[in-house]
Amino acid sequence: MAGTSSQAPTVAVVGGGLAGLAAGCALADSGFRVTLFERRPYLGGRASSYQHPGTGEVVDNCQHVLLGCCTNLIQFYKRVGVERKIRWFDRLTFLEPGGRASVIKPSALPAPLHCGPAFLRAACLHLQDKLAIAAAMAALAPTTPRDSGESFLTWLRRHGQTERAIDRFWKTILVSALNEDLDRISVPYAAQVVRESFLKSASAGRMGVPTVPLTDLYGVAGEYITGRGGEVCFRSGVECFRGEPGGVKLLVGGRETAFDFAVLAIPFDALSRILPQTSAAEPLRHALGRFETSPITGIHFWFDRQITDLEHAVLLDRTIQWMFHKSKLLGREGAEGTSKGEDSAPGANGSYVELVVSSSKSLVEKSKTEIVELALKELREFLPGARDANLVKSTVIKEVHATYSARPGVDAFRPPAETPWSRVFLAGDWTATGWPATMEGAVRSGYVAAQRVARLAGLREAAFLVPDLPAAGFMRLFG
Ligand SMILES: Cc1cc2nc3c(=O)[nH]c(=O)nc-3n(C[C@H](O)[C@H](O)[C@H](O)COP(=O)(O)OP(=O)(O)OC[C@H]3O[C@@H](n4cnc5c(N)ncnc54)[C@H](O)[C@@H]3O)c2cc1C
Repeated sequence: MAGTSSQAPTVAVVGGGLAGLAAGCALADSGFRVTLFERRPYLGGRASSYQHPGTGEVVDNCQHVLLGCCTNLIQFYKRVGVERKIRWFDRLTFLEPGGRASVIKPSALPAPLHCGPAFLRAACLHLQDKLAIAAAMAALAPTTPRDSGESFLTWLRRHGQTERAIDRFWKTILVSALNEDLDRISVPYAAQVVRESFLKSASAGRMGVPTVPLTDLYGVAGEYITGRGGEVCFRSGVECFRGEPGGVKLLVGGRETAFDFAVLAIPFDALSRILPQTSAAEPLRHALGRFETSPITGIHFWFDRQITDLEHAVLLDRTIQWMFHKSKLLGREGAEGTSKGEDSAPGANGSYVELVVSSSKSLVEKSKTEIVELALKELREFLPGARDANLVKSTVIKEVHATYSARPGVDAFRPPAETPWSRVFLAGDWTATGWPATMEGAVRSGYVAAQRVARLAGLREAAFLVPDLPAAGFMRLFG
C-alpha cells in the first residue's frame, strides 16, 4: 500500500491534538488517504500556542514538558522532524521560600540508586523524611500495586511518610505529573510516575522542554499529512458519525462524507456530543459520564530585567509550583516587549517566566488580578532578583478542564481503541493507554488506533507503537 493512490483506503481522523496527529501521520505514512478534521483553526489541541490578545505575545496555553521515558512521543518528534526542538535537562532545582536550593541530579550509581547521593544532600528534606521516602520507593520499585480504590495519600500515610516528605516531595512530584491532589490520585498512577521518572533509569527521568512555541512544534505534523496526499480541514467540527459495516459516515458542516475508517481522537466530553443516539452507543456513553476533570493555571510574567539564572525550578510550600524561565528556554533573552508597538519600553534584557499551578482548584474562582498579586508575591519569596524587578505585563491562562482526573477507579471507564462500530476507533489521552493524561499517553493512543486500522485494512505487520525504555541497573531485576 506504499504511496497514496485514489484506490488507497480513506480514513477520517477527527481531532488535531497529539492523538489525532500521531494516528494521522502513521496512517499517511502507510499509504492511507487521511483527512483530518479539526474544529479550531490550528493544530496541537491542549498543547498549543497562540498570539495572546491582551499582551501581544505568542504564549503556550501552558508549559508542557516530557520525560525521557516518553518513547512514543519522542519517536513522533523524530517522525515529523522536530526532535531537535526539545532541550533535555537531567537536574531539577527545588527552591524553598527564601531561595535555598536543593539540586536533584543523577550520579554514576546504578538505578534505582542513581539520584541517591543528590537526594541525601538535599537540604529541603530532613534525614527522617529521606528515610521514609526511600522506604516508600522500595515498596513501589518491584511491582505496580493494583487499584483497590485507595488514594495515594492514604497509601503514603500507611507507609509511614512524614508531613514534610508528603508536602515537599510526593505532592511536588505527583500533583504536577498527574494534575490531581494526592487524596484523589489512584495508587497505580502514582506508582507508574515514580517508577518511570525516578527509579527506572537516569535516561527515563530526564526532562525535555520545547524550545519553540507548541504550535510551531506540532503544526508541522499537518504538513506531514498533506505531504503524503492527505488533507487537513480546519474549523471543521464533526457533528456526528454513523458506523456502517463497510465504513463510516461523518457529518461536517451539514455535509455527510463517507470514509473506509475513522479515528475519533477528541476529548471524552466532545465524543459524548457526537455519539449516535443508538443502543449500541449506550455503554460508551455511560463510561464517558464517569470522567471528571482537573484544572491547571499558567501565570505569565514579563519583567524588565533578568530575575534569575535558573532555566526552571520546582517551588516548594506555596501555591505556585514550577517556574519556567521562558525567555531562556525559548532562546529569547530580553523577551519582554518582543511584540511590536510595546510602549512600556522595558530594558533590553528582561525575563519572561511562566509559573504553573497544577490541580489549581483554589485559583479557578479567583480573578486574574488576585492571581497575579498572589503569584508575584510568592515568586519574590523564592527569587531575590524578582524583588526589585518591575513587572511589565502579565497574563493568567486557566485551563479549567485541563485533564481527566486520575482518581481511584477511573481506569475501569477508560475505553480501548475498539468501539461497537467495526471501522471506528477511539484515541485520546483519556482512553485505556496505561498512561496518565500526558502527551505520551495521547501519542500512544493515536498509534494504537492507527495500528488497529492498518491491520483491519490488511497490513498485518503494521506496528506503530515503540517499546518502553529498558530498566537499567538493579531495576532490571524487576523487569
Ligand atoms: C494546561 C495543561 C498543561 C499540560 N501539561 C502537560 C505536560 O507538561 N506534559 C504532558 O505530557 N502533558 C501535559 N498536558 C496534557 C496534554 O496536553 C494532553 O494529554 C494531550 O495534549 C491530549 O491530546 P489529545 O489529542 O488526546 O487531546 P486534545 O489535545 O484535547 O485534542 C483533541 C482535539 O480535538 C478537537 N475537537 C474536539 N471536538 C471536535 C470535533 N467534534 N470535531 C473536530 N475536532 C474536534 C479539539 O479542538 C482538539 O484540538 C497538559 C494539558 C493542559 C491542558
